[in-house]
Amino acid sequence: MTNLSEIDKKNIWHPFTSLASEDNPIVVTSASGVYLHTEDGRKIIDGVSSWWVNIHGHANAHIAKAISRQAMELEHVIFAGFTHRPAITLSENLLSILPSNQRKIFFSDNGSTAVEVALKMAFQYWYNQGVNKKKVIAIQGAYHGDTFGSMSVGERGIFTDPFAPYLFETAFIDFPADDNEDHVFSQFKTVADTGEVAAFIYEPLVQGAAGMRIYSAKFLDRLLAYAADKDIVCIADEVFTGFGRTGKIFASDYLSKKPDIICVSKGITGGALPLGATACAEKIAAAFLTQDATKTFFHGHSYTANPIACAAANASFELLTSEECRTNIARISSQHQYFVKKIRSHTRIKTARSLGSILSIELKTDESTSYLNSSRKKIYHYFLDRNILLRPLGNIIYVLPPYIITTEQLDEVYMAIEDFLGQ
Ligand SMILES: *Cc1c(COP(=O)(O)O)cnc(C)c1O
Repeated sequence: MTNLSEIDKKNIWHPFTSLASEDNPIVVTSASGVYLHTEDGRKIIDGVSSWWVNIHGHANAHIAKAISRQAMELEHVIFAGFTHRPAITLSENLLSILPSNQRKIFFSDNGSTAVEVALKMAFQYWYNQGVNKKKVIAIQGAYHGDTFGSMSVGERGIFTDPFAPYLFETAFIDFPADDNEDHVFSQFKTVADTGEVAAFIYEPLVQGAAGMRIYSAKFLDRLLAYAADKDIVCIADEVFTGFGRTGKIFASDYLSKKPDIICVSKGITGGALPLGATACAEKIAAAFLTQDATKTFFHGHSYTANPIACAAANASFELLTSEECRTNIARISSQHQYFVKKIRSHTRIKTARSLGSILSIELKTDESTSYLNSSRKKIYHYFLDRNILLRPLGNIIYVLPPYIITTEQLDEVYMAIEDFLGQ
């Protein structure tokens, strides 16, 4: 054990990691493009974009320069009563790519806070109008973050059990698969028809944490149309799916119905700095446009709209909207599709699917497909030993690379997967 990892072990509590874990965290000294460079001289392919945030590669020079320039000019300023160019430019950039009905941007620090803001906006939207609607509908398997509001609208299980008494009630509809759509629709309708539903929150087209589960755009449109009929606020949690992940800039771009509120984070800064944003349509903002101080949205964070984070996001936006980036995403999408066709019928595979730059492979298993599935650790170490970082969700292997991964680097990941399946 190196000195660094000893100190780490003594002092630091890592996310989603048991304090009794015997694994030593790997010390990363630098990173470049798709590679993480470790203290012991290894070069590891980041096949999961460092928890889905990195889109343009590590230590991206364009983003790094923007950060450095901004840090020398204005590092931070209170965002109530004051403003700055990086946030203003970012608002214009975001509104230029978000669905056209979005009007206002509220900044926060991460995906969970972007979701908290969305829920609070939706609840206060009704409160401000004196309408008594309190129910929330979410989809079984959902993951919306780790704060209390976002846990409340997410799948309940080992992650949330200790907090169960403190979470508000949510009506969960089943995950829409090809064979249960009418059933799920009638579940949705039953709750919606009570007239008491404040909001419907969903991860559009793909549930990330549930195991990269992909579902039908057409069916989601059907739910959104019904929700609109029943005057339910629709919240698209695009924290994972945003900024090109699914092949289009937002997953909502595959749908004909537009959400009232959209949450973004993860890829927003290209993976360089934490930042979240919640966008809303005119209708939502209108309920807050009043001189009545009791109807103000009283929410904020110390680092709201941090200029350095906004500068990173603007630099990332320039890269995202470039021809080169579009080409890269399209290339990865078709490489994924080709690989899915190639391995789909492998005897060890239950399903293999892809959407944009997301590839997910569900292995056959006798165990229930939970996060604690025992194959998880084995798969993780198999690939890590080959200098590829993949972090399976239970028995689901997924590949989610930064868009700058080359054809050859991606082929190296596929080859490792084929070797894994063949052993
Ligand atoms: C990761 C994620 C979140 C939470 O974001 P954090 O930045 O980790 O708090 C919320 N929603 C979805 C869909 C996510 O994938």
